[in-house]
Amino acid sequence: MSDCIFCKIIDGEIPGRKIYEDEDVFAFLDISQVTKGHTLVISKEHVRNIFDYSDELAATVFSKIPKIARAVKTFDPEVKGLNLLMNNEPIASQSVFHGHVHLLPRYSEHNDGFGLKWEEHSSDYSDQELDDIQQAVIKALDN
Ligand code: 5GP
Ligand code: ZN
Repeated sequence: MSDCIFCKIIDGEIPGRKIYEDEDVFAFLDISQVTKGHTLVISKEHVRNIFDYSDELAATVFSKIPKIARAVKTFDPEVKGLNLLMNNEPIASQSVFHGHVHLLPRYSEHNDGFGLKWEEHSSDYSDQELDDIQQAVIKALDN
């Protein structure tokens, strides 16, 4: 879809720190880094959100999530767990209308239960630090 930022990231028209890609699925670091390593998993097919997923697309996308989640869990020894989250429609806080699953690694110092503080942390990291996070997750994916 021509005016979709996530389609543009898939196509390389705008930069994104890619973690994983195959024929159907694309994963990349979320720019906001709500927690360090915050990753988004999307289908290459442009679909608005979960309500437009076919059973087949859901099977394809969700079957890749455990592997990516293990990498986001193990890239940093301080990660103790991970939340999966999908916001669907504005009332549920969806702001980019290309369906995406958030993978949010959880660290002990952020252990505030389900009430995760949804705060922008992009400015906490230099480009080099974000590159290092990207490379560490990719390495964990290969292990
Ligand atoms: P939503 O609120 O729709 O569930 O989440 C959208 C997510 O997309 C947000 O966490 C936001 O930080 C992320 N995002 C928005 N624009 C970009 C971008 O250009 N690049 C990356 N990597 N993430 C983005
Ligand atoms: Zn799209």
